[in-house]
Order: sequence, then C-alpha cells, then structure tokens
Amino acid sequence: MFKRDTIAAISTGMGNSGIGIVRISGDGAFEVIDRVFVGKKGKILSREESHTVHYGFIVDDGVTIDEVLVILLKGPRSYTGEDTVEIDCHGGMVVMRKILEAVVRNGARPAEPGEFSKRAFLNGRMDLSQAEAVIDIINSENEYALKSSVSQLKGSVKKKISEIRNKIVYHTAFIESALDDPEHVSLDGYGEELLKVVEELLKETQKLLDTADDGRIMKEGIRTVIVGKPNAGKSSLLNALLREDRAIVTDIAGTTRDVLEETVQLKGITLHIMDTAGIRDTEDVVEKIGVDKAKSNAMDADLIIYVVDASIPLDDNDYEIINMIGGKNALILLNKTDLSTVVDKDMLNVLINKPVLEISAKEETGIEELEDNLKEMFYHGDISFNDEIYITNIRHKSALQNARDSLLRVKDSILNQMPEDFFTIDLMDAYETLGNITGETVGEDLVNAIFSKFCMGK
Ligand code: GDP
Repeated sequence: MFKRDTIAAISTGMGNSGIGIVRISGDGAFEVIDRVFVGKKGKILSREESHTVHYGFIVDDGVTIDEVLVILLKGPRSYTGEDTVEIDCHGGMVVMRKILEAVVRNGARPAEPGEFSKRAFLNGRMDLSQAEAVIDIINSENEYALKSSVSQLKGSVKKKISEIRNKIVYHTAFIESALDDPEHVSLDGYGEELLKVVEELLKETQKLLDTADDGRIMKEGIRTVIVGKPNAGKSSLLNALLREDRAIVTDIAGTTRDVLEETVQLKGITLHIMDTAGIRDTEDVVEKIGVDKAKSNAMDADLIIYVVDASIPLDDNDYEIINMIGGKNALILLNKTDLSTVVDKDMLNVLINKPVLEISAKEETGIEELEDNLKEMFYHGDISFNDEIYITNIRHKSALQNARDSLLRVKDSILNQMPEDFFTIDLMDAYETLGNITGETVGEDLVNAIFSKFCMGK
C-alpha cells in the first residue's frame, strides 16, 4: 500500500543537548544497525530480543562516531508498527548528523517530516485523530491543551466517532437489505424508529461541536484585549501579568509595530494579549479605543479586560467603552483599590452586567482571583478529561458540521416521507465525512498534507 523502505531521522531537537536520538524504522532497520553498531564481544543486534537496550559504539568506515545506547523495537510493537531502532547518542548537532549520515550510507533513507507518524497511521497503529493528537501534544502551549491532546491520543475522539459511525452503518445496512429483499425485511414503521436514532445522533454530534469553542481556546489560547481610559492602569496590569514567574512572553515581529501580541500563561490558560504596543502607548489610547485597530481587535477578541480607575469618577471614555463591550465576553477590573475609591463594584454592576473584580495592579492584589475567574469563565472550573471530549482540531470540527448537515437532511427526508433510499444517501454522507476524522475515508493527498506539518523525526 505504501513504501516500506527504511527511513531514519534525528528525532530530538535541532540544538545541542544532553542526549540525542536518531531513529530508524522499516524492514531494514536491524540490517542497518548491524552495519554501524559495534558492541561488546561482537554482539549482533538483529539477533537480540525486542525491547532491549544495548551499549556500544557507532562506527562508520572504521571511524568511531559516538558511544551510544541502542533500543531495539521489533514490529509491530513499536510506534510505527515496523522494526524500529533508536540510537541514544550524545546530543550534539555534529554527532547526531554524523550518525544519521552513517545510517543513511548503510541503507536507510532520510525520513520526511512526520513520516514515522504517517507510517504509524498507515500501519494501523493509530487513527488520524490520534496521529494529529501527537503533534498537538508536541505543540501544546498549556496544561489543558496537553491534557486534551493526551486524551485524544488515547483514542477519545476515535472511540466516539466510531460509535456514531457504527450506528449509522447499522441502520444504512438495514435499509439497504430491506430494499434488496422486501419480501423478508419490512420497512413498515421504520421511519419513526430511524427518526429517533437520527435525533440521538444529531444530539451527540452537536454536543461535540459545542465543545469546539472551548477546544479552540484550550489549544490556541484566549485572544484578549485590555481596554480602559488613559492612566487606568492597563500597562501596570500587563506588567503584573507578565511577571516573570508566570509569563512566557513571545514577541511577534509586526510590520509597523514592535509587538503585536504577548502571551501569558495563567493557571494553565494561555492568554494572547493583542496589540499591546497600542495599549502601552498611553497617549494614544483614547483615539485608539474609538478607532480601527484596537476596536476591531476588541470585536474579534475572545475576551475583553476592561480596566477601570476606581480612584476617579467615570468619564466619557468609560461610557464609550461600556457601550462597546455590551454584547462581548468581558471582565471588568476595578483597579487602584489600594487608593480611596469613588467607583465601586455595585455601581459598575448597575451600569454593565459583567463580572467585576477589585484589583490593584500596582500592589498586584486580585490577580489570583482574576486567574480563577478566567478559569471559571472559559473552562467552567476544572476540566475532567476522563469523560469529556474536546474538539480542538478545525478539521474535525468541519467534518462534524458536515455530518450534522447530512443528518439534518435525513431527518427532513423522514419527516417529508421521502423514499427510503433518500435516507441512505445522506446517512452514508455522514458516515463518510466522519470517517475523515479517523482517517478511514481520507485520500492520500490529505494524509500527506496532514503529516507534512509534523516536525522532522516524529
Ligand atoms: P495606562 O495608561 O492605562 O496604561 O496606565 P498605567 O499602567 O500607565 O498607569 C497609570 C498610572 O497609574 C501610573 O502612575 C501607575 O503607577 C498608576 N497605577 C496603576 N495601577 C495602579 C494601582 O493599582 N494603584 C495605584 N495606586 N496606582 C496605580
């Protein structure tokens, strides 16, 4: 079905580190290692047991490259499902490259990005949703994203999708056989029964789709904008959030600005705070709030944090902001509560029906409450990954939407008392589309496109 030649790659990061791993997979993996490995007492690795570790040296053309530990994994009990050899060497770029070169000279081919995982998928070691979870684990930006990806790797999405598909195929097969053999299989009253099933399937599909927003936020972080009139304390808040012990700051070079976004990790939640250059430039803020960029950012954001200066009365700027954030997901921070205050919580609550928290950016009080509140707002408290599945992958989301549309068409056909073969066409559409998620019905091009986004050596 696909090339089973032997591939090799450096699987650890491209930089110097303590240990590096060169991985070889394919039918010839053991032959290749036999040619370059020199162990004690002339040990031949291809004759050793699977899942064992061996000490020795990698020697190419009589030249010793490095002292190594070699792990042997015979197929199908390996990540790829094929014979696999992992060479643990010293983690220098030159050493790792030399070992890879030696391995390639002795019969392996350099792997393409994601090729090990692609083989794992093609060899049936995992479905596509699990393979995608692998790359999501590697790219996880926070604890929740990681937990959700691990649950998907363990097969949570695969299992749920398979359940739905099995139900669909069962009923399709029943209708088909009744249509083929009307004398023995009757479809009398079947529409009603199928309607119940389809409604149940629609509910399950919708339930998964409902998690996609949380799922995206989990995976990609919360797009956040901080607004407030000049001197309300926006920069001070940002600085408090960016305190070194909790922040991972990424500066993304923009075309006209220094910083377009800063990333903050709060209790396992990632906040992408946008357009901070504008926020920092206090002179600019009043104009900015009304105008273009900040406004459209605020409109697109998942979250608006509105900072209110509690020490002075609300002014026109505040009212403008209050109008702007009316229908949005917003959190109000009543700042400077360390001073004597003229704006209070109840007053704000009357003006705008959003959660209000009292903080002092200067003294860094209330930040913990802010974190707890965000967690509650976006993750409804703590998430348990044991029973809940989160759809974090756009591809999965769009397949689910298509499946839902097909199921809705089945429902329409039933309600309109259409002939039964109408049901099966749309049922099979839903079945096929859902198969995209697990990879059962995807074409080679899509498979290649998905795996080419993986990193080298994975
Ligand atoms: P921005 O214009 O909204 O970014 O406001 P800044 O963060 O630059 O703060 C404006 C002024 O308010 C600065 O002098 C800050 O030190 C002060 N400030 C900010 N937050 C607090 C606070 O919680 N308490 C007090 N007392 N002063 C604060």
